[in-house]
Amino acid sequence: MSRMPVLFLGHGSPMNAIEDNAWHRGWASVAAALPRPRAILMVSAHWETKGGVALTSGDAPETIHDFFGFPQPLFDVQYPAPGAPWLAERARDLIAGSGVPVGSIVMDGQRGFDHGAWGVLLPMYPAADIPVVQLSLDRSLTPAQHLELARSLAPLRDEGVLVVGSGDIVHNLRVDFRRAGVQPWALTFNETAKTLIVTDDADALANYEALGPEALASINSAEHYLPLLYVVALRGDKDTVRFFNDDVFAAISMTSVIIDEQPLAA
Ligand code: ZN
Repeated sequence: MSRMPVLFLGHGSPMNAIEDNAWHRGWASVAAALPRPRAILMVSAHWETKGGVALTSGDAPETIHDFFGFPQPLFDVQYPAPGAPWLAERARDLIAGSGVPVGSIVMDGQRGFDHGAWGVLLPMYPAADIPVVQLSLDRSLTPAQHLELARSLAPLRDEGVLVVGSGDIVHNLRVDFRRAGVQPWALTFNETAKTLIVTDDADALANYEALGPEALASINSAEHYLPLLYVVALRGDKDTVRFFNDDVFAAISMTSVIIDEQPLAA
């Protein structure tokens, strides 16, 4: 089995899950070109824990509609992908061996898929027939510890598992995105981050607080940025990087990243 690629997906609005727009189509076409994964390990901005990490361990996680004020069709979406208890156990063991002092590793048999997960998986794999496990973001960890924890998951790439980070490199909802044009600091930081991704400087990406005021404004509460660290952490020597959906509006970046040993045709 060849080594699986790793994906970071800028997800933006939940509506991108069901709207036929360029980003939605971008996710679909990338998924169509990838080798079919045995399972997906998803790190979404929308599952945060404290004092430990958690993994979805149920056989059939429910679809969580964790948003307000959107049209009914978005609340009607179901994403009935099966869980993968074997993958939850495998990830648990790898994390336990990472040396990162996580307080606990909870196997959560009740937790479903949030919209950061199904919002991108629905366009990518509409048949919902690939098993999915979600890993939470332990907000008690430092960014460097997130990176270290993520590195422990590297063997999954050789086991047919597609690791996906779902967030936004730039995400600041304090900017009124209905009226504001693109923020210059958002564009600047998005380009800075892309350069650091290309040059494989994961440590600098983790140490984002040293990257200046543009980074601090762009990363804001950090939950949308941290999934990126789970993706860059898994880059190997033979991998190349490609960007797609590379758009910034207001203070949201849709920029998405493929890290792969076999670059896809554009
Ligand atoms: Zn989000």
